[in-house]
Amino acid sequence: MSAPTTPIFDPAAADAVLARLTAAKRVIVPTHQNVDADGLASPLALMHALKPLGIEFLPVVSDGKLPKSLRFLPGVKKALLYGVDALPEFDLICMLDCSDRRRLGGFYEDQPSRIEGDYPIVNIDHHVTNDNYGVVNIVAPEAAATAEIVADLIRYWGINFTKTIAQCLLAGIYGDTLGLRTDATRSRTFRTSADLVDAGANPSTITDELFRFKPASTVCLWEHALGRVEWSGGLIWTEVNFEILHDCGADPSEAEGIVNFLSGTEGSRAAAMLYQNDQGYRVSMRSLSDDVDVAAIASHFGGGGHPRAAGCSVAGGPAERDAFLTQVAELLNQE
Ligand code: AMP
Ligand code: MN
Ligand code: MN
Repeated sequence: MSAPTTPIFDPAAADAVLARLTAAKRVIVPTHQNVDADGLASPLALMHALKPLGIEFLPVVSDGKLPKSLRFLPGVKKALLYGVDALPEFDLICMLDCSDRRRLGGFYEDQPSRIEGDYPIVNIDHHVTNDNYGVVNIVAPEAAATAEIVADLIRYWGINFTKTIAQCLLAGIYGDTLGLRTDATRSRTFRTSADLVDAGANPSTITDELFRFKPASTVCLWEHALGRVEWSGGLIWTEVNFEILHDCGADPSEAEGIVNFLSGTEGSRAAAMLYQNDQGYRVSMRSLSDDVDVAAIASHFGGGGHPRAAGCSVAGGPAERDAFLTQVAELLNQE
């Protein structure tokens, strides 16, 4: 393995995280809702890395929904599904890849006190909009993925990358960087990724599982969603509603790649995908324009994320959706 690059965090914070984890009897690790590769693979990597130290580190899929594309992650069967599996007792919460506590969806809403003081929280994240809600915080917006921070932590703590840890971490990095292709991908991201490959991670398996293999229902969903693309000023957008999901027999996670496909469309400044849910819509936004910050736009609507990839929620029906789209077009005009 090459010489480690300088850690992406303050060493004192990394020491404090390990002290908290070591002192706990059991650590619960709830993911953000609509979990992605980084959000689940980062906890799984730490679960594997901390086991030999006797630390019980238990990932929980906070909305109970495990996307099909993440079922290949090593150790994924050990993760609990919130609302399906019973939660054991715990005395510490660790949150990875979560910019704020509301990102936990059902895990938060069912019992807000759980993460608003009942338990200490260790917060490890790379979102620029993170509000440092933990008793210990490692927030590194320059990291392309939370998995990049976790890789540095594992190295800093003197734990070797096993093949299993490496596969989880590279999957997290690949998920957020679309296979080392996004603007946030730095030379250090490539170096860490190379170290993970040296430790046994398999990039082509990860690429196939995250970006290529798909059920036929995904093709049906894309066909419908792309068939109804619309524009609102500089915003190119589409939606997946209950009807499309039902007709295709698909699950919303199968539409995740559509917004990335739409971003960069000639004549657009940003792209949005709206997912209908019981409250209204969950919105996913992307931009490839240097002068457009979609995290800033999402924060107008109570959301957040990164300058190139962000999200928020819109409550209501088609009228509220259209008002939102008009407002986004106005914000894009001002940027
Ligand atoms: P997504 O579009 O769901 O892939 O999310 C893109 C980025 O925006 C991710 O880093 C998310 O964590 C973040 N994000 C999405 N939705 C929200 C939200 N409602 N509040 C804060 N951050 C969000
Ligand atoms: Mn994530
Ligand atoms: Mn992430």
